[in-house]
Amino acid sequence: MEVEDWSINQILEKTKLTREQIEEKIKKKIEEFPALTREAAIRSVAADNGVILIRRDYKVSDIKEELSHLNLRCRIIRKFEAKEVNLRGGKSKVMNLIVGDETGQIRVVVWDTNKISEIEKDLNEGDEILIINAYSKFSNFSNNFEINIGANTLLKLIEHRETGAVLDKYTRISQITEENKVYRVRGFITRIFTNNTFIIKCSICGKRVDEKCDIHGDKALSKTLMISSVIDDGLSSTKVTFFDRVADKFLSLSKETDLRQKLNDISFGLYQIEVEGVARSFNGSLSLTAKDVKAVDYIVSAD
Ligand SMILES: [Zn+2]
Repeated sequence: MEVEDWSINQILEKTKLTREQIEEKIKKKIEEFPALTREAAIRSVAADNGVILIRRDYKVSDIKEELSHLNLRCRIIRKFEAKEVNLRGGKSKVMNLIVGDETGQIRVVVWDTNKISEIEKDLNEGDEILIINAYSKFSNFSNNFEINIGANTLLKLIEHRETGAVLDKYTRISQITEENKVYRVRGFITRIFTNNTFIIKCSICGKRVDEKCDIHGDKALSKTLMISSVIDDGLSSTKVTFFDRVADKFLSLSKETDLRQKLNDISFGLYQIEVEGVARSFNGSLSLTAKDVKAVDYIVSAD
């Protein structure tokens, strides 16, 4: 349920006002205070009529504003290793999670070291959990709202689930061992190399060139999109390179329009993909050349 519907339902339940009367009051409120958002106007109308809107339980898709005291029932999709960070007060730790429900995915940032230890010890990818008393904040880094977990947040395990069953349909990245074999893997994009996003070839001699061919100049240059990335399946990672049509498909993961913005968006680690690729040996290690790619939507099963 959208935040707005929920708020209006609360007013309907707790007052004798009809929906039309509420709408009328919201309209008047906005006329009186044009700077108010509709959301704020609804809250103000509620307060005028003795209804204090305190909502606790949210769905991921509702988290589009700064909320305090939010609860969320979700599944842990990805648990990243905790990282040391330097804050003004000295060294600290931060841990990121990606959680999801049937409405979407969201990043969770954990700042409290006790909470980090608790998660490291007791919670795993696949677990269904209840996050109680967290807050959401807009992150300029990810350009999205994130859930923050602090010392006062409670984490409750609802159900432990093995993720192995899902992974069996795919090859684990650590099991990519044979050159020229086709593998299907699933994982999160954790890095994109943004330096050489195009390869330039002279189509007369077929050689890769920097700017132009020594022999044929710029007469027959062809430019091919090439994106190198690192995919992580939670246990290990591999380099995956996308060319041409597959690279276009890869870029379509992001709704940004500009190439740089797309790369930046995708490199942030929120995208889970399924890749079919051929293992190629490069500098003594195997990496995948993608033949196909698709986004993997995280849906929490209803059972
Ligand atoms: Zn040439």
